[in-house]
Amino acid sequence: MISTPGYIDSYYSASANPLAPYPQLEGARVADVCVIGAGYTGLSTALHLAERGYKVTVLEAERVAWGASGRNGGHVGVGQRRCQSDLEEMFGIDIARQLWQFSLEAVHLVEQLINKYQINCDLKRGIMHLAAKPSHDNYLRKEAELLQERYEYTDVRYADEQEVGGLVGTGRYLGAQIDSGSLHLHPLNYGLGLAAACAEAGVELFENSRVTRYQGGSSCTVETAKGQVKAGNIVLACNGYLGNLESRLAGKIMPINNFILATEPLSEPLAQKLIANDYAVQDTLFVINYWKLSGDNRLIFGGGENYTTRFPADIRKFVRKNMLKVYPQLERARIDYGWGGTLAITMNRMPHMGRLEPNVYYSQGYSGHGVPTATFAGKLLAEVIAGTEERFDIMSKIPTETFPGGTLLRWPGLVLGMLYHSLLDRFGH
Ligand SMILES: Cc1cc2nc3c(=O)[nH]c(=O)nc-3n(C[C@H](O)[C@H](O)[C@H](O)COP(=O)(O)OP(=O)(O)OC[C@H]3O[C@@H](n4cnc5c(N)ncnc54)[C@H](O)[C@@H]3O)c2cc1C
Repeated sequence: MISTPGYIDSYYSASANPLAPYPQLEGARVADVCVIGAGYTGLSTALHLAERGYKVTVLEAERVAWGASGRNGGHVGVGQRRCQSDLEEMFGIDIARQLWQFSLEAVHLVEQLINKYQINCDLKRGIMHLAAKPSHDNYLRKEAELLQERYEYTDVRYADEQEVGGLVGTGRYLGAQIDSGSLHLHPLNYGLGLAAACAEAGVELFENSRVTRYQGGSSCTVETAKGQVKAGNIVLACNGYLGNLESRLAGKIMPINNFILATEPLSEPLAQKLIANDYAVQDTLFVINYWKLSGDNRLIFGGGENYTTRFPADIRKFVRKNMLKVYPQLERARIDYGWGGTLAITMNRMPHMGRLEPNVYYSQGYSGHGVPTATFAGKLLAEVIAGTEERFDIMSKIPTETFPGGTLLRWPGLVLGMLYHSLLDRFGH
């Protein structure tokens, strides 16, 4: 299988649906809204605005869904990145309930968009969360009860060690939450489908058009090396790839790299032994392991991250050692692909959305939960730009602390913190 030009070498780009390239921005354009970044955040914003009749231009530095949106695990999980019991403690029961409803709407929205725009992206149902330690097992059981009782969410149930062993073909886990309301999919094909839907709805998409500078206020302008867009509003949707474009946002997120491999296609009986119900799976470690089967029965296994500006020299080897801890029976399986991507986390792991100026909006920092959340953020951004602020403001009022040291010094302390937690994973505390 050959990777699609302009995308990193990955199983996803090798199995991408055919796509025509979008042009590079040259010269001057005018739009109601200029969106910077064509991942799920930018594409969903553009699509929802175009559906409301806005003239939208999207500028992407590389290719559409080239960033985290084309490289991730493809898990579309119900709930926020933080569990409901945490959210109740952090924000009180009313906001926690609202955030829960948003999360259900987010997963539903992904499914609706896929159906409405007939996006072919291996959509499947179900995620299992596996307990790696006794305290995690206890927590998963209690959280499942909370969701069933207080949130009347009946798609989740707790499963004990014996049942889990039968479902996932490994004795490493102590119990699980089994959630039939969540989904999983081929992330790049989902992103490409959103881009195609945008184009069909009249959005002007430009690739290889990195924004070098922008200005909000009364003469709102966005500049690339070869062109310029004058717009009524700007949306910043660059997430982990924001770089130096906007220092007021950069200090609120920490970009981290996470890595995935894809095995060769596995025989049907072996694939069934690894994941009997074809759900996506993730464990509860700080540096989580997550996996699922692809449309052609490869194991897509994510595990391992780093906090530097570089990826490991041999990503397949880096991730394979984590995969073999879960599935030693895959010792002889060929690893066909290994790749990485950059996501953005926030201090409290909740998304960071808001306005920098009255006509400059942003959304970022989904902390590993962006497939549903970034898609939903796009809907909220379209709502607020169209004049309905209420739901967007529930999210924009969620506090996001600046990382200690801001953009310059956030690395050393944080990296140490992240490494400390991953060490706890390793030594089983
Ligand atoms: C390995 C990995 C696994 C993950 N697994 C999951 C998962 O299973 N489930 C889940 O929910 N989430 C997961 N995530 C997180 C999820 O992928 C992201 O939260 C989500 O894709 C973010 O979408 P986005 O549009 O905000 O950002 P991105 O998809 O990163 O898009 C940002 C875009 O902005 C562009 N850009 C940046 N600067 C400029 C500029 N100056 N001018 C123009 N364009 C610019 C970039 O090129 C990029 O295309 C994972 C992430 C990674 C990396």
